[in-house]
Amino acid sequence: MAEEKRVRHILSLSGGKDSAALAIYLRDRVPEMEYIFSDTQKELPETYEYLDRISSYLGQSVVRLNADVGFDHWYEMYGGMIPSNHRRWCTRALKLKPFEQYCGDQEVVNYVGLRADEDRTGYISHKPNIKAVYPFREDGLVLRDIEEILRTSGVGMPPYTNWGRTRSGCYFCFYQQKIEWVRLKETHPDLYEKAKAYEKPFEKTGNFFTWSQGESLAELERPMRIEQIKREHVIRIERLAARKENATLAEVFAEADRTQELDEDEDQGCLVCQL
Ligand code: SF4
Repeated sequence: MAEEKRVRHILSLSGGKDSAALAIYLRDRVPEMEYIFSDTQKELPETYEYLDRISSYLGQSVVRLNADVGFDHWYEMYGGMIPSNHRRWCTRALKLKPFEQYCGDQEVVNYVGLRADEDRTGYISHKPNIKAVYPFREDGLVLRDIEEILRTSGVGMPPYTNWGRTRSGCYFCFYQQKIEWVRLKETHPDLYEKAKAYEKPFEKTGNFFTWSQGESLAELERPMRIEQIKREHVIRIERLAARKENATLAEVFAEADRTQELDEDEDQGCLVCQL
């Protein structure tokens, strides 16, 4: 009799709240689940802390995947080109490729934490052996349900949300809002400096790229500019809160985050890195 083909079940944690909640939601339903994390080695320290917390809850280790070569190699290869929404080489090289290599050619069910209240599209692997499924969408779970799952499990929200960062991913991610850059500077000045160090004319080409649209981090950190960014952020949150009277704070921030991205990039962030 032919041996039955083994199907692997893989959930990729990003360090964000949705994939964490999905892991909790599925822990007892899919006991054979493999949990992975594609580590760019440019993550926030809080992300590693959160992964340890999730791993303890699951009673299972989270496999860390590393790309063959890291961010700095590709940065050099691309001629000092800082990635952006329109030049997003980092996701492919540092997140997707290690994931696909880990899956190999076996049949894989890939669990994705997209919620029922999101209109984004998730990563669909082009590899025919990887099938993406969306349990939150199928079961109609929205942001409030995800908050509840995290609260009742004791895992809680990602610790970087304590200082107002809304997204997982690299500390220098170009999807950050201006206010998040300000908070990064205030919370992790060393990481801000490291991000700033990438903003230099590339010696071989003279190209100069910035992480944040329209200004360098040296410009963004000027005291007057920081005050302006903070003021604008408060106005934005107040407006949104007034429009959404019964919304939780997390919903207001999620909306602020989403609308800011739409304003600035006409795109919706990096699903692979930030779900
Ligand atoms: S978190 Fe941002 S910078 Fe890092 S790999 Fe993802 S898109 Fe690129």
